[in-house]
Amino acid sequence: MSEQPRQEQAIALIAHDQKKPDMVAWATRHRAVLARHRIVATGTTGSLLKGKLPELDIRLMKSGPLGGDQQIGALIVENAISLLVFLVDPLSPHPHDVDVKALTRLAVVYNVPMACNLATADILIAGTP
Ligand code: PGA
Repeated sequence: MSEQPRQEQAIALIAHDQKKPDMVAWATRHRAVLARHRIVATGTTGSLLKGKLPELDIRLMKSGPLGGDQQIGALIVENAISLLVFLVDPLSPHPHDVDVKALTRLAVVYNVPMACNLATADILIAGTP
């Protein structure tokens, strides 16, 4: 389903609260690759990343529980996302659990590479130009 050139697409970054330190550490490790791409992120995750890595081009969506996951889902539908890293916390309940499921479903429908843990995120970013 990928019709647009890659440079038009963004990398989407989302982390549940317990996984935000992991996201910051991961993005710091891979800052050179991330700096070559546009990034979209849910509100709190993106603000945190902007603070730590100001050189990155990060577009902030709403916070996840306020619809940010769904906004990123809409970008997937528009073919605007090349890679989704969503560090989920499987050990805590989330009020927006249905949004997580919906976003995961859209990533599958539109065949977007998606990492839900650090091991997969490392592999996917290693394959990102
Ligand atoms: P947040 O949203 O980055 O605004 O915390 C992430 C989420 O829980 O979906």
